[in-house]
Amino acid sequence: MTQPPAHQPAAHQHPALAAADPELAALVGAEERLQADTLRLIPSENYVSAAVLEASGTVLQNKYSEGYPGRRYYEGQQNIDQVERLAVARAKALFGTDHANVQPYSGSPANLAVYLAFAEPGDTVMGMALPMGGHLTHGWGVSATGRWFRGVQYGVREDTGLVDFDAVRELALKERPKLIFCGGTALPRTIDFAAFAEIAREAGAVLVADIAHIAGLIAGGAHPSPVPHADVISTTTHKTLRGPRGAMLLAREEHAKAIDKAVFPGLQGGPHNQTTAAIAVALHEAAQPSFRDYAHAVVANARALADALLARGFDLVSGGTDNHLILMDLTPKNVPGKIAAKALDRAGIVVNYNTVPYDPRKPFDPSGIRIGTPSLTSRGLTTAHMDTVAEWIDRGVRAAGAGDEDALLKIRGEVGELMGAFPAPGLTAT
Ligand SMILES: *Cc1c(COP(=O)(O)O)cnc(C)c1O
Repeated sequence: MTQPPAHQPAAHQHPALAAADPELAALVGAEERLQADTLRLIPSENYVSAAVLEASGTVLQNKYSEGYPGRRYYEGQQNIDQVERLAVARAKALFGTDHANVQPYSGSPANLAVYLAFAEPGDTVMGMALPMGGHLTHGWGVSATGRWFRGVQYGVREDTGLVDFDAVRELALKERPKLIFCGGTALPRTIDFAAFAEIAREAGAVLVADIAHIAGLIAGGAHPSPVPHADVISTTTHKTLRGPRGAMLLAREEHAKAIDKAVFPGLQGGPHNQTTAAIAVALHEAAQPSFRDYAHAVVANARALADALLARGFDLVSGGTDNHLILMDLTPKNVPGKIAAKALDRAGIVVNYNTVPYDPRKPFDPSGIRIGTPSLTSRGLTTAHMDTVAEWIDRGVRAAGAGDEDALLKIRGEVGELMGAFPAPGLTAT
């Protein structure tokens, strides 16, 4: 096989959609085909189970329920209240927290709710700089959080690629931020929540652990938990946690009221009940023993992939990985991140170009690519496959440098063949 199979509209799976709107149904079918055929290495993506997918497409969609269970501004909540209570109870049990709010529409609004709960416009807030691996919503300039608050930023050391805790402490004690965010989007190493908590205590700041990327690893016991250390925990539900697109805020009891008030009525209107339901299903799945195996397999695959890449001369930020994510600096390969990412996409390997710490290039044309193993692990790939994946990346990056489209097409065929043997959860395309 040298070409991906042509896509077939998934009319049999979405008969009403196919009848009402064939154009849109064809796009959904094409996307299913793409997700089935490609090797998806974007570390913030995953495949949800068929059960999560079904829950997120239910008639719960039709219901308005501003407020919280037992305290709504609309009637008819007999079932919705129970759905949300179930999601909240499962979140508290899974992560071991006093309080959970499952209503934030996504990770960014969840973080904005934290600002609303604990800070006033103009207050100083502290987070990791975006080009160092932080998130926009941690006070970065182009984000509302950096425009409405005074963001001060820490980073990683140039020599180790690890958080520089001496610099974090110095900055925190000098700036006395209201909030300190730890966590990020391109951090390949374990986050030392205890070290951040000590600094936050010294500085009198609220510590927010943003575990959007690693929530599933924490739930599965493959990364330490921030629960003993952080005042507030913010997470998306759609990354390693393998739930629907959504978010949660977890907190100690003392912060419960402030968090709830900030999410509603502070920031949002009615919760997306179909998403709440799907979050409940995902949390149920994440509480099973098999999810612990999944979380550990994600990390084992990432480590094996990192080793295989290092063996091929790739330069990995921090020298490797402790989690699901690998950040590569392609400077030694003489291929810009964007050129490599676009070439790999044509080879059926989906990654994103990314800045690396101290990147001399621009964010829209950076030096690196970011990859991760949550999706391929969901499909059942193991450490035995990681050498093949590294070899494809190596050949793909070299083909990108040489402008060799035939080599990319050849990889595309090999990728399609392997992925065909590992059906993706939730996808019915054949
Ligand atoms: C993904 C992510 C977010 C934002 O999530 P969205 O759902 O895309 O708004 C916030 N913080 C971190 C650390 C993330 O990785």
